Amino acid sequence: MTEPQIIFGKPWFGSEEETLVLRTLQSGWIGQGPLVGEFERRLAEYVGAPHVVAVSSCTAALHLALVAAGVGPEDEVITTPFTFVATLNAIEHTGATAVLVDPERADLNLTPGAVESAITERTRAVVPVHFGGAPLDVDGFAELAERHGIWIVEDAAHAIGGIAGGRPVGSCAHERSVVCFSFYPNKNLASAEGGALCTVDEAFAERVRELRLHGLEGDAWERYRTDVYRPSLARVPGYKYNWTDLQAAIALPQLDRLEGFLASREYLASEYDRRLRDVEHVSLLERPELTLARRHALHLYQVSVDAPPPARDAILGRLREQGIGAAVHYIALTRHPYYVERFSSSSFPVSEWASDSLLTLPLHVHMHTGDIERVAVSLESAVDQVLG
Ligand SMILES: *Cc1c(COP(=O)(O)O)cnc(C)c1O
Repeated sequence: MTEPQIIFGKPWFGSEEETLVLRTLQSGWIGQGPLVGEFERRLAEYVGAPHVVAVSSCTAALHLALVAAGVGPEDEVITTPFTFVATLNAIEHTGATAVLVDPERADLNLTPGAVESAITERTRAVVPVHFGGAPLDVDGFAELAERHGIWIVEDAAHAIGGIAGGRPVGSCAHERSVVCFSFYPNKNLASAEGGALCTVDEAFAERVRELRLHGLEGDAWERYRTDVYRPSLARVPGYKYNWTDLQAAIALPQLDRLEGFLASREYLASEYDRRLRDVEHVSLLERPELTLARRHALHLYQVSVDAPPPARDAILGRLREQGIGAAVHYIALTRHPYYVERFSSSSFPVSEWASDSLLTLPLHVHMHTGDIERVAVSLESAVDQVLG
């Protein structure tokens, strides 16, 4: 008998999500409306952000943040080649020139120091990623924003619930720091797609609200609930990036569960650490100790395979055969066909090493200690078959 598959990421929903989704369907209003507003207020409270704007995805949030910051074809935007392709695509869609900086090997995050050496007079923004949930040096980036008059758009798709610089990720370290979250189904807080942008600047938040729905003033819910007719006029050619109450109905109860989810992820990750510490040819990634100032959000649990290609892929294949949903996060963006030519004259040794060596193990809140043991045993046997 084959054992059930342990998939890489699986959302956890309960009766609260079911009830609220059903109630929203029965209300007759499933588009952008009161639940989106309620989620924005609740998330703002949770992360300590003055303003939160919910949108259709983190990709949309990143794109809107850059557009609202005035990024355009004359500008340069710095990011990392070791991230999900959405980060770079969002920059590409503004017409700006993306400049890539290799991250640190220890936590795969960009550092303000490395980024600073790539700043030119055309640089308008930096998009650093809290990689895997590892907290960025947000204070260092805030200083950089101040010194160079640039924007910091944090890609926090992996980092909801994390703490960086002594503050929750999302609290915005600077007036030109904007933080973007994802509620994609396998992220720490799940919906059927969704994203949000956090800012301290009310005018910026208003600009994003206008841009997320065709550039129209106000939204359909506001028009629906007043008796006074007011024409809805576009002042800018906005986007169709709004979120919906049906998706917020899934996400609102998830917000109540988030601290519990994080505690489970921390427990499972520490079990992996304990179990995998001595596996040959496998190294654990460093994680900062949990303190009041820093908390890893543990979206990804990764190990490195200490052997040249194709060892990692061969091990991944064996794990899949055993029903273990291991995965690769990510293939460096410099290797994607669309971007390969553009960045071919530079080298990014850390990103290339990480693309070849890192293996993401399943981590989600349905897992228990027995699953960790099963993944560990499968990994040991896969490593043994490939490198033994
Ligand atoms: C998932 C992800 C995104 C995109 O999030 P969506 O909500 O799916 O648009 C962006 N950046 C990173 C690092 C991600 O992992």
